[in-house]
Amino acid sequence: MSDNKGEVVVRMAPSPTGYLHVGSARTAIFNYLFARHHGGKFIIRMEDTDTERSSEEMTTAILDALRWLNIDWDGEIFHQSQRFDIYRQYAEKLYEMGKAYYCYCSPDELDAKRKQAQAERRPYRYDRKCLHLTREEKQKLDDAGVPKALRIKTPLEGIGSFNDIVYGELTRDFTELDDWIIMRSNRKCTYNFSCVVDDHLMGITHIIRGNDHITNTFKQITVYNAFGWEPPKFAHIPLILGKDRHKISKRHGAVSVTDYKKKGILPEALFNFLALLGWSPGDEREIMGREELIKAFSLKRVSATNPIFDSVKLEWMNSEYIRRMDDNELLDKVRWVLIDAGLTTRLSVESHWHYMLKIVALMKERVRTLNDFPRLARFFFTDNFDYDEKGDKKHFKTPEVADRLNALRDKLSGLNKTFEINEIEKAVRGLAEKLNIKPALLIHPTRLALTGLTFGPGLFELMELLGKEKCLSRLDRAIDYIKNKFRT
Ligand code: GLU
Repeated sequence: MSDNKGEVVVRMAPSPTGYLHVGSARTAIFNYLFARHHGGKFIIRMEDTDTERSSEEMTTAILDALRWLNIDWDGEIFHQSQRFDIYRQYAEKLYEMGKAYYCYCSPDELDAKRKQAQAERRPYRYDRKCLHLTREEKQKLDDAGVPKALRIKTPLEGIGSFNDIVYGELTRDFTELDDWIIMRSNRKCTYNFSCVVDDHLMGITHIIRGNDHITNTFKQITVYNAFGWEPPKFAHIPLILGKDRHKISKRHGAVSVTDYKKKGILPEALFNFLALLGWSPGDEREIMGREELIKAFSLKRVSATNPIFDSVKLEWMNSEYIRRMDDNELLDKVRWVLIDAGLTTRLSVESHWHYMLKIVALMKERVRTLNDFPRLARFFFTDNFDYDEKGDKKHFKTPEVADRLNALRDKLSGLNKTFEINEIEKAVRGLAEKLNIKPALLIHPTRLALTGLTFGPGLFELMELLGKEKCLSRLDRAIDYIKNKFRT
């Protein structure tokens, strides 16, 4: 039994049958923020009783994803697969208390009854046939080795209700429930029963989970009542929807935390974004760090309407986190993406850390995800890039451009080896003036020549960073390219 008197204890209870879905990650975050806000405990319980669908690989993948999000939990992780005996003991206790009874009906028989109910268009409920067996009848069935499942006696009429922290009072007509099975004939207990036993033994004070569990909650409350245990408080949170207002699923693209990691989203940004899906601090704040979220979090401000997953907003938030991140810390993350893209090596990054820091500092204002770095900063690492097609049409459009670039090349080659930003700018602007053209007519083709792109960081800054030699050779390449294009 738990000794957490008066303290908040919450849990996340994932079924390890797949990667951590963003919806489950948000549930974890709400539980985590609630626990930390109240100085309580956050427990993880793996609901891995479905041995066919659960795997160790998925269990570790879920824990890795939580760790990546920097969500830490208290104590050891519970695995339901190691607790079958405990659930069995409690199921038998309920039987001894006269609150449960054995059912010998065969699956075929039950199926036939279910079909009949369907045909008669009435809700199916177990008809309690086995509740009325005599002692002798039961003995006979036991002697014959007929398999039996344990059913809980539920109230047959009246209204069940509980006060949900998000939805307020929720009610269900007891006639909608039936004497459901708490222990199957193989003596394994079912989810709704095991869940209650665990939540009780672990001293869970608040159950924060998706609103797809509301029906389960009504069933679970009958178990609390049968044992005479006080149920915890419940907060059911509305599910996340996609832009099309359907429950977010694989159809919407990325749905697991790992997918977002692969897309170059920072864990801090995803954490912040998910915390604000269906909860708000009650003011305009959006970029909120972990401590700030912990301080502000309250279940009372969880909205009862379904939040919409807006990936554009997530990317915006991510760009804010990138922009605000310390350059060293950012480079530490960006380097892996650059290495994966084949643009550099570990050794090269280490050897040129200070140079790399400058690239990161220059690019961080302009990226939305870590994956934008190899795409938008590629030209810092290789000469092997094509010219953007539209840019080519727009900025390399006459043979004259080659002449202008040639004039620039000559001017730049006369500059110092230090190739300092102010000198570069003076050279470019000076040449534009001399040629009597707008600086833009020189700046755009030069950018395209040096980077292959039509946008990016300030041209003079990136030129300084590229260095004189690279700038000259890339201008040469572009001059040849343009000349070739117009050769008749
Ligand atoms: N294992 C359940 C799920 O993954 C969670 C149940 C609960 O939070 O009570 O949906």
